[in-house]
Amino acid sequence: MATVSAELKGKYVLVVNAGSSSFKTQILSCENETPILAVLAERIGANNGKLIFKVNPDTDKEEKHAFDVHYPTHGEGIRDMMKRIVDMGILPNFDSIVATGHRVLLGGPKYAECKVDATVKQVIRDYIPLGPLHNPANLACIEVIEEILPGVPAVAVFDTGFHTTMPDYAYTYGISKELSEKYHLRRYGFHGISHKYVSKTAAKYLGKETFTGICCHLGNGCSISAIKDGKCVDTTMGLTPLEGLLMGTRCGDIDASLPLFLMEQEGYTPTQMSDLLNKQSGLKALAGSNDMRDVENLIEKGDKDAILANNIFNYRIIKYIGAYLAVLGQIDGILFTGGIGENASVTREPICKAFEPFGLELDTELNQIRSGEPREINKKGSKIKALVVPTNEELEIMQTTLKILGY
Ligand code: ADP
Repeated sequence: MATVSAELKGKYVLVVNAGSSSFKTQILSCENETPILAVLAERIGANNGKLIFKVNPDTDKEEKHAFDVHYPTHGEGIRDMMKRIVDMGILPNFDSIVATGHRVLLGGPKYAECKVDATVKQVIRDYIPLGPLHNPANLACIEVIEEILPGVPAVAVFDTGFHTTMPDYAYTYGISKELSEKYHLRRYGFHGISHKYVSKTAAKYLGKETFTGICCHLGNGCSISAIKDGKCVDTTMGLTPLEGLLMGTRCGDIDASLPLFLMEQEGYTPTQMSDLLNKQSGLKALAGSNDMRDVENLIEKGDKDAILANNIFNYRIIKYIGAYLAVLGQIDGILFTGGIGENASVTREPICKAFEPFGLELDTELNQIRSGEPREINKKGSKIKALVVPTNEELEIMQTTLKILGY
């Protein structure tokens, strides 16, 4: 934890992470970098919305409050949340909030993290066509909080930001140059905030300045990044989060002709096709559930579909790690994070075993241990290390926000 300056004593950062129909926020103390409040608002736009407040989350003093709400828009949700924070006495007012940090989905090829101004807002607007569900929600949250907290600086931390260092041959698609330029078509990569946090944490754990290796973020969405000297050189997600690994509800890599074929045969519109590939595919389509815990239970019962789904899931991860091993040459280690990466020892085991011939010696007992701390799961002396590193995107956003603002 960084030592804080006197001006940050007793101060907080508000972190906002808005999804297409939800938002997560945290108020984190600048002194100890832990949240005093974590909020989740779900089903924005629907009649059966839920707002969940966790005061002192993940501590023995945690208090959970759930409210039925109806938020027509993200803005209305944020306004109501802020009012409740004061009404419930979580903060007496907002004088102690020194900054807000916003996760923004897409910032294009140049923007990674920056103080929000008119130019940055325009960048967020410019990328709405490629992030039609997230970028408008992110902008709405920024603008409403600006009204509620006038004069409090805001920082945008782009989920694509960590990947802006990729070389052109890793991000360029083999299609018409004119069309790529006209529509900004290229690999952007996502989960950047997580890949950055986890690789920085791994470097610290390993006693290195920077990390060189492969980071696997395996949650509902899954992606892998190849990282050289702390900088991303390739990643599996592309123009959108659909490309790459098999995921909870996304198909990942697929022959581009397949959706065209289905659109012709079934008469699907682009929206229907996108829904099928993003929300009705992956583990959900193959095993009947997008939740890896269900897939594991089905495998135990000998369910053939679940076994195949899991084999595809693991195989694609192994394939990409192998590719990135070749890209990087020499690596410090392979990192696992996200709900599956942090918890599913049965997923980590076959993946690590596949790299035994390259010098990764898995310690199967260490692999079973559960912990919220970064940890090694390889045997002592293993040439390639395997680490489980719990992600913390909110903390990364908070630290980046304070850094950008010069604290
Ligand atoms: P998101 O990408 O939505 O943030 P998470 O990172 O929380 O999602 O990951 C969700 C995934 O993690 C789900 O597939 C869930 O089944 C899986 N997961 C969570 N805990 C475990 C566990 N103990 N064993 C296996 N999988 C788990």
